[in-house]
Amino acid sequence: AAKASTGRHHRRYSPELDDQAGEEARLGVEMRMGLDTGQFRMVYQPIVGLPTGRMLYVESLVRWQHPERGFVSPADFIPVAEQNGLIVELGEWILRTACAQFVAWTAEHGADAPLRISVNVSARQLAEPGFAEVVADALAATGMPPEDLIVEVTETAVFGGGVAVQAVQDIKALGVRIALDDFGTGHSSLGLLQTVPVDVLKVDKSFVDNVTMAGRHAVIATALIQVSNGLGLTAVAEGVETAEQAAELHRLGYQLAQGYHFGRPVAEPDFRGAALTAR
Ligand code: C2E
Ligand code: MG
Ligand code: MG
Ligand code: MG
Repeated sequence: AAKASTGRHHRRYSPELDDQAGEEARLGVEMRMGLDTGQFRMVYQPIVGLPTGRMLYVESLVRWQHPERGFVSPADFIPVAEQNGLIVELGEWILRTACAQFVAWTAEHGADAPLRISVNVSARQLAEPGFAEVVADALAATGMPPEDLIVEVTETAVFGGGVAVQAVQDIKALGVRIALDDFGTGHSSLGLLQTVPVDVLKVDKSFVDNVTMAGRHAVIATALIQVSNGLGLTAVAEGVETAEQAAELHRLGYQLAQGYHFGRPVAEPDFRGAALTAR
């Protein structure tokens, strides 16, 4: 019940805050149930070559179909799962499901199947002792070739070094590739490239959004492809929504792109679909 404000602290009861804590607790309980009853599934978004638009890789993204709430966005439930630790179990399921799907596609579609698959891994998973073993077990259990797996980590997850960077090194030692997700939005984007063994830079959507307009976004997008090329890394432009953006990114030297223009995340990408060109 709401309390009237008293005294000099002027404390006010905040139903919003209380609701949020309650909501997160409910979400946590329902996630546990959702895991046990198969409410989670994976979708896959193409990562294409420029300018052909041909699918080369896919990024796996988790979805939660809740019986009453309907579709719940990972942007809403991943942070909760990080908080209550469920991400560890969910993350293991994600890794195994994505790897098993990749192996099945390769068997079924041969040369039309994606060449690599990326899986998002959160800060809490990286910090969990023995995470590299979880990855090794997933590879072994599914027959996934390590060199075809890309583990996507965010800058914030590896910022500060320590266990997270060690975990990245341990994963790399398995032969798995590492991508820095949302690159350029963290606190020490370029600094991290000196300490974290990275293979792929996923240039954040915010630099792609205005890349066709002469201005700072285009300048940064240009600088980032130069850094990537100079270090011998692979750059992926994220969140490409228009043909104009794709053409401009190609002109700047980007060879890989991902975004609604090329395909949304779906359960089964169209492997032999018509390629969308950069221009
Ligand atoms: P992310 O890893 O950076 O994934 C890219 C997000 O951008 C996805 O949202 C994708 O659907 C969306 N996207 C792709 N192309 C476009 C575009 O052209 N325009 C716009 N507006 N959006 C685009 P999604 O699937 O909602 O996931 C959001 C975030 O949740 C992900 O960002 C990632 O941080 C997290 N996430 C999703 N799946 C997983 C997972 O399996 N494990 C973990 N740990 N995190 C995940
Ligand atoms: Mg990602
Ligand atoms: Mg991203
Ligand atoms: Mg993102």
